[in-house]
Amino acid sequence: MSTPAAGQPVRSLYPHVVLRRLPADAPAKIACLTVDFECDYGARTGQFRLARHEDELQALRSFLRRERIPLSLFVVTEMLDKWSAAAPLARLLGDDWHSHSHTHRPACPDLKAEIAASREGFRRHFGRGPAGYRAPMGLLRPEHVPLLAEAGFSFSASIFPSLRPGTYNHLGQSLLPLRYENGLIELPFGVVRGLRVPVAISYFKLLGPGPGRWLLKLLGVPRVLVVNFHLHDVVVDEESLAQLTGGVRAVYGIRKHGGRAVLEALVRHLRAEGYTFLTMTELYDLCANATGDAGA
Ligand SMILES: [Zn+2]
Repeated sequence: MSTPAAGQPVRSLYPHVVLRRLPADAPAKIACLTVDFECDYGARTGQFRLARHEDELQALRSFLRRERIPLSLFVVTEMLDKWSAAAPLARLLGDDWHSHSHTHRPACPDLKAEIAASREGFRRHFGRGPAGYRAPMGLLRPEHVPLLAEAGFSFSASIFPSLRPGTYNHLGQSLLPLRYENGLIELPFGVVRGLRVPVAISYFKLLGPGPGRWLLKLLGVPRVLVVNFHLHDVVVDEESLAQLTGGVRAVYGIRKHGGRAVLEALVRHLRAEGYTFLTMTELYDLCANATGDAGA
């Protein structure tokens, strides 16, 4: 296994098999709706002003309950100690909770300590260790996989099977869940077939409703699909948005109040296509009993 140097784009995965056959009783098509529960606009603001928008977040929660769609949250655990509103809000919004690192620093110099701090912070607030880990910005290097297994994680939900210039290139990877050689399961982000555009509200908001709908219809998505969004994709805090610098602010300003409608249209489309919505823990349980073939 070649190990890229820190700072180099990640091009390979830890040795793995692709889980092509889920147990016979698994739904034919599975979607998991996930949130990266982190500061406003990632680490760009260092603020959590979105907590002030509890009414809108409560409305989102009510919509998901009505549609019987469970929500899995990947929590930046440092926030649980930093903001008193964070833990109650995470409990209100989610049905299933995991770790999204402790500090959300992709170039963390001591990942082992970062992982340990995240498990400890999570345990303090949720009374148990997290089963799942999501790396910041999809930056999971092969050498991180043993660290996660040693720390007691059962699965990672970090890999985008797509391209982010300068960060990773996983265009050759399968779109299906994987089992790494050390037993850790990877539940990758969902992407549109062919173009490999992530099925994430941030991307679909940028595309606009028409092109997004056509991508889904013409190219389709895998039968196991992890959908992702951030709270700042569906709720706008003008003060945090104003804190962003020019180009980034312009991008986040596109259809800035349209995120909730994009999310609703996407989940209704998936339901019409026959997808069953599960939590990430439920998907992990199915994958733990799946069989696979040697992967790329
Ligand atoms: Zn994140």
